[in-house]
Amino acid sequence: MRIDEIIKSKRTLSFEVFPPKKDGEDKEKLLATIDALTSFSPDFISVTYGAGGSNSKNTVEIADYIQNHARVTALAHITGGPSSPETVSSLARSLRERNIENVLCLRGDKPVGYEAEYCKYFAHATDLAAFLATYGFTLGAACYPEGHAECASLYDDLVNMKKKEESGASFFITQIFYDNSYYYRLVNEARRIGITSPIIPGIMPLVNPKNIRRIKEMCGSTIPLNFRNMIEIYASHPAVMEEIGFNYAVYQIIDLIAMGAPGVHLYVMNNARTARAVCSRLETVFHELFRTV
Ligand code: FAD
Repeated sequence: MRIDEIIKSKRTLSFEVFPPKKDGEDKEKLLATIDALTSFSPDFISVTYGAGGSNSKNTVEIADYIQNHARVTALAHITGGPSSPETVSSLARSLRERNIENVLCLRGDKPVGYEAEYCKYFAHATDLAAFLATYGFTLGAACYPEGHAECASLYDDLVNMKKKEESGASFFITQIFYDNSYYYRLVNEARRIGITSPIIPGIMPLVNPKNIRRIKEMCGSTIPLNFRNMIEIYASHPAVMEEIGFNYAVYQIIDLIAMGAPGVHLYVMNNARTARAVCSRLETVFHELFRTV
């Protein structure tokens, strides 16, 4: 089903997985995780695409499994940056042959030292979206509550977000964030400059203190002081840390839904236990508040 159509009728619950680096056991594990994720009745499951383009085959295979075996709407990510038009065409055809209707258009992170070569054909997600327009996909794109690292200001980034919509993106999924005010600011400012597409908040439970720095470096996401304190004070108690991380994610989601978010996209890092920990705490919320908008 087309994700833009699903979002019109209800709040969405979705998950993100990434393809295994190796075939074999890792892949079997991921397929079992996808099967487990279906028990939470997600509206769609997205599957990432390697920034180097190396695991494009795996992205198609996993998206195929989600769509045609697990029978959940699949959202295949494509990063244009490393790819040639021929690669993207062939990927687009493979996805269409498998009845996959939804693509998240991305540029991908530029590898240091290869910037110019990396984005030779698709300098931005907008170029990829324009290229994919003829394949009949429903297109989504990424957005950044705290602004993208390469942009001088949030407002420059918002102007580019608008270009993504003009190039065909009909929904957005955000980068992870731990302070909901950044999401509310993004939505307000986006609406102010005329972006009308739904903006789905992306939430990743933070359950490992070692990830604090990684998240800041990779995603630029601010960790609010009160949350950071709890993480650091209980860093040597992993079980307590998990409780804090899962409950914080649940708090974020309830607040987001109360403020009118169109759904929630959970970065579960291929871990069905993470999905279970969050979804079981939100069973009533999903049951009562996700059936209709
Ligand atoms: P762009 O939209 O090209 O934006 C990059 C920068 O260029 C921004 O500063 C933006 O403001 C600016 N810009 C955008 N359009 C234009 C334009 N037309 N003209 C001038 N400037 C412009 N990475 C992966 O490798 N694989 C994945 O599967 C993946 N999935 C992701 C899913 C989500 C929900 C998110 C939020 C990110 C994901 N990423 C993934 C990371 C993403 O590739 C990086 O954040 C990357 O640095 C930017 O990708 P983008 O699509 O936002 O790029």
